[in-house]
Amino acid sequence: MARIAILLADRCHPTECQWECQAYCPPVRMGQECIVKGPEGRPIISETLCIGCGICVHKCPFDAIKILNTPETDEAEIVHRYGYNGFRLYRLPLPPEHGVTGILGPNGTGKSTALRVLAGTEVPNLGLLDRPGSWSAAVQRYRGTPLAAHFERIARGELRTALKPQYVDRLADHDRTVGEEVARSGGAPGPALAAVGLAAMEDRRLPELSGGQLQLVAIATTLAADADLYLFDEPSSYLDIVHRLRIARTLRRLGETRSVLVVEHDLALLDYLADQVHLLYGEEAAFGVVSHPLPVRSAVNTYLSGYLRDENVRFRTEPVRFVAHPPKPSYRAKTRVSFPELTKSYPAFRLRVGAGELGQGETIGIVGPNATGKTTFVKMLAGAETPTSGSPPSGVTVSYKPQYLKATQSASLRERMAALSADPSFDLRLFERELVPGLRLDGILDVALPDLSGGELQRAACALALARPATLYLLDEPSAYLDADERMAMAKLLRRQVERQACTALVADHDVYFLDLACDGLMVFRPEGSHGNEGVGEGPFPMRDGMNRLLRQIEVTFRRDPDTLRPRINREGSALDREQRARGEFYYEPAA
Ligand code: ADP
Ligand code: ADP
Ligand code: SF4
Repeated sequence: MARIAILLADRCHPTECQWECQAYCPPVRMGQECIVKGPEGRPIISETLCIGCGICVHKCPFDAIKILNTPETDEAEIVHRYGYNGFRLYRLPLPPEHGVTGILGPNGTGKSTALRVLAGTEVPNLGLLDRPGSWSAAVQRYRGTPLAAHFERIARGELRTALKPQYVDRLADHDRTVGEEVARSGGAPGPALAAVGLAAMEDRRLPELSGGQLQLVAIATTLAADADLYLFDEPSSYLDIVHRLRIARTLRRLGETRSVLVVEHDLALLDYLADQVHLLYGEEAAFGVVSHPLPVRSAVNTYLSGYLRDENVRFRTEPVRFVAHPPKPSYRAKTRVSFPELTKSYPAFRLRVGAGELGQGETIGIVGPNATGKTTFVKMLAGAETPTSGSPPSGVTVSYKPQYLKATQSASLRERMAALSADPSFDLRLFERELVPGLRLDGILDVALPDLSGGELQRAACALALARPATLYLLDEPSAYLDADERMAMAKLLRRQVERQACTALVADHDVYFLDLACDGLMVFRPEGSHGNEGVGEGPFPMRDGMNRLLRQIEVTFRRDPDTLRPRINREGSALDREQRARGEFYYEPAA
């Protein structure tokens, strides 16, 4: 067990505090140099003098310090460390010459760092901070292992790698055409753009594209490269369910002849894509440990169980449990919210959503390809958009979490809580007792909202929405920016709240595991009209019926894992896939 002290440099504002960390630190008060002022004006915490009391963690007004113990991990296994009180990564995955290797783990545990080191764009310092890292030192350290050969090839400039970075929205800052962008990797844009379904968009300019289209351009750029190792950091972000599945097939095909490494939080996708998976465990922004590779089915089952037997590591207190969806229980048969047919006409798009009813205690998912009107429908019910015909139900209290989040106030979550404590439509007790621990908001209560990461802001916004008692919760893409663990926690909290309050929820999302855990039924949206300029929404349908309608649109079949009951995508053309298609059972539910 090693004690580590982490200073989150972006949260530390040493000119705006009283250096409470240093003032209250017991060893400092005893005259020891446990916390000193570093060359950048920020504290440096000595891991050898620290007694682990945690006082500085609580005293810091910006939640910028973490003191924790790592499991019994050998310091010699550190691959990279960002500064003295910075994040450290233990061990690396090494993908074989062919096939798809997945990495699955929480946000901030070093997945992108591992990808950059393997791609040769980040030189690992092996945890040694007195000299800059070098490839030759890395070769020395890993001599006798396959990683040494990998680093040797990087050092000699012989390893051709292609990396799709995590943050694709940055591409919009470059005024290039799609074709010019893809050609930057040295390959022909045509086939790569066709593979991701963007063949007609070669001449469009990057700043005009949506997030999903930028993601597809980034994937096409990586595919177009002629490389030995292809690395994809979160390829599903911004993509709808149709494009996720299309990309999964493309990457599988690439893995037949090349080495592919993928970081992915959508478990249905990862399960389909990867042959083997390394689990990553650790503590956000503090440390991450890469596990040995496991075959994909056992990796995902292990992950859901929360316990990695081989390494005796528990990364969650409770397992995630799926259930086959039984017929609607009688209490849900009681209608809680009903809405009439609603339509909306924009100059270039028309939406029609059929009348529907939401049962008491029911959470209903909204699924379908992008640009079919899901967000417009949610906005109409939220009162943020006026329908062209039809009226949203009156007398229904609504709590709404929009798709795009922007922190407009510089306040922290704690300050928001204080301001809302007098608001009768905010349940402070629920927020503090269940939502803060359930969505792991404890460590970020004092951080200004604009300083939160995408995932932190998403969790904060969902918690604020769920803390308002309502007849109808409307959550638009709550899984965006969340890691797999956070998605499962969100699904559980949402479901529990809606059942307990006997209210209803509508949740638009693309993650099948999240939807399967959270929802009792689905509304299904599809494009209509020859130019895709119309959208139709129908339902709610029972889960199996809704999934069947969705999956028939995209010709994909799912089965359930016999041990965990989690849904699994069938391999295209496999015996099960053919048999289920023939029966029209796209989403197989075993008999309850
Ligand atoms: P993941 O991909 O699992 O979310 P990352 O590899 O992006 O994790 O980052 C892990 C941690 O390393 C981050 O939480 C951050 O604290 C730290 N980190 C990442 N990049 C840098 C950097 N360039 N300088 C300092 N710290 C960094
Ligand atoms: P989804 O949520 O399924 O991706 P949206 O409801 O966001 O779909 O959008 C459906 C269509 O409506 C898109 O083609 C979009 O361009 C169009 N649209 C959405 N909002 C507006 C608006 N305020 N003005 C004009 N067109 C809009
Ligand atoms: Fe000092 Fe360590 Fe206690 Fe922080 S946790 S106050 S650094 S002894």
